[in-house]
Amino acid sequence: MKSENSPEPIQGNVGGTDPGPRNIELDRQNPDVLTPPRTDHGTLPNLKFSFAMAHNRLQGAGWARQVTMRELPAATTLAGVNMRLNPGGIRELHWHKQAEWAYMLDGRARISAVDQDGRNFLDDVGVGDLWNFPAGVPHSIQGLEEGCEFLLVFDDGSFSEDATFLLTDWFAHTPKEVLAKNFGVLESDFANLPADIDRTRYIFQGEVPPSLSTDMVSDSYGERSFSCHFSAQQSVKTSGGKVRIVDSTTFPAASTIAVGLVEIEPGGMLEMHWHPNAEEWQYYTEGRARMGVFASEGNARTFNYQAGDLGTVPFAYGHYVENIGRTPLRFLEIFRSPHFQDVSLNQWLALTPPELVQTHLNLNKNVMGSLCKEKWPVIKDMKH
Ligand code: MN
Ligand code: MN
Repeated sequence: MKSENSPEPIQGNVGGTDPGPRNIELDRQNPDVLTPPRTDHGTLPNLKFSFAMAHNRLQGAGWARQVTMRELPAATTLAGVNMRLNPGGIRELHWHKQAEWAYMLDGRARISAVDQDGRNFLDDVGVGDLWNFPAGVPHSIQGLEEGCEFLLVFDDGSFSEDATFLLTDWFAHTPKEVLAKNFGVLESDFANLPADIDRTRYIFQGEVPPSLSTDMVSDSYGERSFSCHFSAQQSVKTSGGKVRIVDSTTFPAASTIAVGLVEIEPGGMLEMHWHPNAEEWQYYTEGRARMGVFASEGNARTFNYQAGDLGTVPFAYGHYVENIGRTPLRFLEIFRSPHFQDVSLNQWLALTPPELVQTHLNLNKNVMGSLCKEKWPVIKDMKH
């Protein structure tokens, strides 16, 4: 059998040792790529990339890296950015053509926005909190005392974090006489603008802001909420883990992005299923996973993931996700859709006439008895 420290591409009587050269670190991280299950077959697009492989843009007050269609071509509907803001660090005021959904991974941030009707928004978000800014709505993010790290997801695979509309960029590319006319002041009032013609601030150092109530700007047009605070009660517990669904039904601001926050116990598995409405985009935050993907025409592939990795599942492909580590597996499954939707293989068969199902696969009584009509057997405890 393959040892975890020195895995060899051998399975039973097929394969052979790998004398090298080899990237042993990647081999250890991808045991089911090096030595695939015998059921794998055919050619599939690559369904894995990692933020660890993405160019990192280091700035004065943090960093940002992105995984888009350029890095993971199979993911056409969504793109992701992983960003760090140091204490007081500011992701400058900006907007973009895509909606921005976000999940706070570490620390806390203050976020601001103003919508097209003049309604403003200011909130502090912490670990597990979400926000969603619709396309075109201007906003900013600032790290609080402890700084922060977060995941951003945009509802277009070809998004680029380097192509957002920056406040400094626009000021730098507008004649000062126009700025003066726009604000009804003198050209000389803009003598100290921070940007050179080519430079923007993007992520820059600021002071940690005062308390939220002190920082709030009063608004006669009213306020609008773009955030969603973590609530443990929203989780659906199953025998092998839990799932928390957040989509437009519970978080109206997220009108184009639906998410399942999945936690699977060691040995557990997110059961065989598919999504009838959208391609899946995944971000792994803890643990070790094996995902098997079924592509029809006899084709199937298996991939491995760990914290910091991204996965994707093409539209309607069948798949399962197993926890193959000794600690809980946590990941986000994200869809460009107002609603989270999935079809469970088990539930499908349980709700179909049993004679039809039994005849179809020659199933015995044990299998027929295991079929479950409930919507959430989804995470199975495999210990029994
Ligand atoms: Mn943004
Ligand atoms: Mn799925």
